[in-house]
Amino acid sequence: SPVILGPKDHAINPQLLSSNAVRVTQTLQEAGFKAFVVGGAVRDLLLGVKPKDFDVATNATPEQVKRLFRRAFIIGKRFQIVHVMFGQEIIEVTTFRGASADSAPKDEHGRVLRDNTFGEQHEDAARRDFTINAMYYDPASQTVLDYHDGVADIRNKTLRMIGVPEARYREDPVRLLRVVRFAAKLDFTIDPATRSPIHVMAPLVNNVPAARVFDEMLKLLMSGHAMACLQQLRTEGLHHGLLPLLDVVLEQPLGEKFVTLALNNTDERIRHGKPVSPGFLFASLLWHQVVEKWNAYQAAGEYPIPALHLAADDVLDTQTEKLALQRKIASDMRDIWAMQPRFERRVGKSPYKMLEHVRLRAGYDFLLLRCASGEIDQEIGDWWTDFMAADSPGRETLLAKKP
Ligand code: ATP
Ligand code: MG
Repeated sequence: SPVILGPKDHAINPQLLSSNAVRVTQTLQEAGFKAFVVGGAVRDLLLGVKPKDFDVATNATPEQVKRLFRRAFIIGKRFQIVHVMFGQEIIEVTTFRGASADSAPKDEHGRVLRDNTFGEQHEDAARRDFTINAMYYDPASQTVLDYHDGVADIRNKTLRMIGVPEARYREDPVRLLRVVRFAAKLDFTIDPATRSPIHVMAPLVNNVPAARVFDEMLKLLMSGHAMACLQQLRTEGLHHGLLPLLDVVLEQPLGEKFVTLALNNTDERIRHGKPVSPGFLFASLLWHQVVEKWNAYQAAGEYPIPALHLAADDVLDTQTEKLALQRKIASDMRDIWAMQPRFERRVGKSPYKMLEHVRLRAGYDFLLLRCASGEIDQEIGDWWTDFMAADSPGRETLLAKKP
């Protein structure tokens, strides 16, 4: 049975709760079901941080949940969850899952393939990853239900796997990446027993479907602590031969300055609540790989623009296969790269055409990163800053006096 904490014990500020999440738990409870805010939101509330989204756990089935809300959609085939929509906000409602990992079907490495039985609340808690992610908050009574001493781990800033760490990593190797992400993002220490198997178990990530690894990598890169996460991945030996992308990013001295600038920039934007496009992010991470191949194609006699396209093809082909880069992201990346040599043509109509490009802003931001990293002369970036801000006569003057 869980430890139950009242408002005086947990000191959660009710102001940080989403009123929609409260409405969802209330509606479910009024219909006779159990319902709690759960997971990352409770962790963040206990840390005094405003959660970015809210998940609700309940003993109602997806069908029962759906019937209670006007705008609710059942998502997912194997394990159904319900998205309850309130304008822009989505509250994700999940039915308690059973602790069926032992009997669940697995692949030859022990990875759980399907895990879709409903269960009791204590089972739901036990199948979550970390103690700090397995707490439930009831807004009505303002109580926290803590099954695995998560509150203590929050207080001593410790990331601790529930159960036997080796077994939990084996069931789902994505947890190897999650432990790194949370440690870096929260600035928590990884408990020794949770930490020690990471290094040996790292190769298991190779057997996870690429799309899931990609999702987790994207969360990592968009956590607002991407630099810290990548450093931690390196410390834990999780980058090597594991994710082709990270090998590229962390092991090319040429690109390191560029990537560092790009990621610090991304972290900064995310911490200020500004949007970041995955296309821009991955275009930055892979730019120096493109540059290397671009130079090689030119050395072999290709003209610059076709050489760049060939280089982009090579890089995207490899990464699309290994990382399951979505088509949209890949096409954004290609656009951003393809704009780069065009910024250098500052004659005739060319710069005016660039002004009409739908991705001018992204391409220009990328150009500025290239200047800041010392790859190209700062003068080009400054010229474009002026050109974009100028009126027509001003633009003519700039075109006339370009170096
Ligand atoms: P964030 O604030 O970064 O979204 P989060 O804790 O909400 O962090 P999610 O990936 O949104 O992380 O997952 C929500 C919850 O689902 C987690 O808190 C955890 O309880 C559970 N969970 C998610 N992924 C796993 C996993 N691979 N294994 C076990 N439990 C998981
Ligand atoms: Mg979440």
